Amino acid sequence: MDVKLKKYARLLIETGLNLQKGQTLVISAPVDCASFVRLCASAAYDLGCREVVTRWGDDFLTREKYLRGDSAIFDEVPEWLSRFHNDYSEGGAAWLSIHASDPEALKGVDPERLRRSSIASGKALEPFRRRQMTNFFPWCVASVPTLAWAEKVFPDLKGEAAMNALWEAILKAVRVTDEGDPIRLWEEHRRKLTERKNKLNAWQFKALRYKNSLGTDLTVGMPKNHFWEGGGETTLGGIDFCANIPTEEVFSAPKRDEVNGVVFASKPLVLGGNIVDGFRLEFKDGRVVKAYAETGQEFLDSQLSVDEGAAYLGEVALVPFDSPISNTGILFYNTLFDENASCHFALGEAYPCIENGAKMSKEELKAAGLNDSITHVDFMVGTPDLSITGITWEEEEVPVFVNGNFAY
Ligand code: ZN
Ligand code: ZN
Repeated sequence: MDVKLKKYARLLIETGLNLQKGQTLVISAPVDCASFVRLCASAAYDLGCREVVTRWGDDFLTREKYLRGDSAIFDEVPEWLSRFHNDYSEGGAAWLSIHASDPEALKGVDPERLRRSSIASGKALEPFRRRQMTNFFPWCVASVPTLAWAEKVFPDLKGEAAMNALWEAILKAVRVTDEGDPIRLWEEHRRKLTERKNKLNAWQFKALRYKNSLGTDLTVGMPKNHFWEGGGETTLGGIDFCANIPTEEVFSAPKRDEVNGVVFASKPLVLGGNIVDGFRLEFKDGRVVKAYAETGQEFLDSQLSVDEGAAYLGEVALVPFDSPISNTGILFYNTLFDENASCHFALGEAYPCIENGAKMSKEELKAAGLNDSITHVDFMVGTPDLSITGITWEEEEVPVFVNGNFAY
């Protein structure tokens, strides 16, 4: 196991971030994951990292804060905290985020406090977020098990047995095995994703039409000169990195005002420490005009009202139903894994996936039809019977997905 964990840490630092000699590394992680963070730090220093800076989180303390903190703190972000994010990102530090929270860490918390807090941090950390969305610095999101999370994923297992089962599932999903070099396996995997995206780029669809038996019937317009991303990103300075490990998606940005119809979620969504499940969204001219959830309606509503752009789509992503994470059949209750097992969309800010987008101002991106928001939340819509039809500018129809998988 020790060997595999070291391989995994190296994969995140080398493939995920492609950390350069002399570069600073920021790691944000739950304090429960400290031993794995130490492996990542050592792997970084092996490559000549300038300094590893850590920012620890803790589900218990976060929950206590939301339940018992003074109401005023949810509208403010201390200066030092915004400077931490904004200064390190401006300096080009690499950023590793370990997402490993209990999916229901904030159950019972006032949704209004969550909403206010995400507005406050969205505003205060805007320079950081914008640099992240435009790949000014390399960043990588990854996960390691924590106990409460593992027991949620494997409700029949307790303690160490649940932790081991989640470790096994994660290591499999990220292609870390006893034999073989995961860094090489990832090169191969990224090439496959690149082929998929190149094909979509050549088509330049005007719109995508989604249909399945859940009831999804949605048309998503695409902006002119959009491109698809997948298999890794490149920083503005020209360094290749991989923002999600694992990743199975190719993604792009939809046209903000041209989304119409209804879409049904196919998996529960963990939204700021609460579960939203059995939900559907109805769109008119891009905007969510009706949202219904069997579970967690108040958290869905509060997410949609974070700001104007929170009720519009900012990402369209394709993942075959027949893909490694999906085939495990495990519901991870963690968006990093669940979104890479399923076609998904995101509500909120768009990645600048149009020609020259990374160099455009907020206003120029908006004029090109891309959504702007202080939030970005992925939700899963893929099913084994999902069909997606691409519509060209000549009104030709091209099957992109048939029965949940790529048609090409
Ligand atoms: Zn995505
Ligand atoms: Zn996303």
